[in-house]
Amino acid sequence: MAVTRTFSIIKPDATRRNLTGAVTKMLEDAGLRVVASKRIQMTREQAEGFYAVHKERPFFGELVEFMISGPVVVQVLEGEDAVKRNRDVMGATNPADADEGTIRKTYAESIEANSVHGSDSDENAKIEIDFFFNEDELVG
Ligand code: UDP
Ligand code: MG
Repeated sequence: MAVTRTFSIIKPDATRRNLTGAVTKMLEDAGLRVVASKRIQMTREQAEGFYAVHKERPFFGELVEFMISGPVVVQVLEGEDAVKRNRDVMGATNPADADEGTIRKTYAESIEANSVHGSDSDENAKIEIDFFFNEDELVG
């Protein structure tokens, strides 16, 4: 299995509850390494651009408001089969459907305020990493 990278966001519901360390520990315990990380306040333009794929969905407006409601931590994670490994430890989008031991089952407040984002493919991981990081910020 190849070592790859994925993109993660620790969302405002988690930073608000001081869970940055707790969430990161679950990522690390799942075999992922944080090779870049920064705490940012997303702008409305960034949130709309990042979630542009969802702009026709009924929840888009509220999702953008939520994502700019407080700071987030954007991260690049590295590990074997990183996209799937991260999706597995994140759990299902709706915490009510998430497996025990996943980040969303443990910490998510709702289907919207679900504590973490993770890329869904290698292709999208690259696009999302490039959206928030410059090459010289990926320090390994
Ligand atoms: N979301 C929401 N309502 C829904 C579905 C999704 O508010 O009915 C939010 C939620 O924060 C989710 C994000 O939109 O994480 C992106 O949705 P996606 O289907 O890509 O889920 P994910 O890949 O994050 O599991
Ligand atoms: Mg998604």
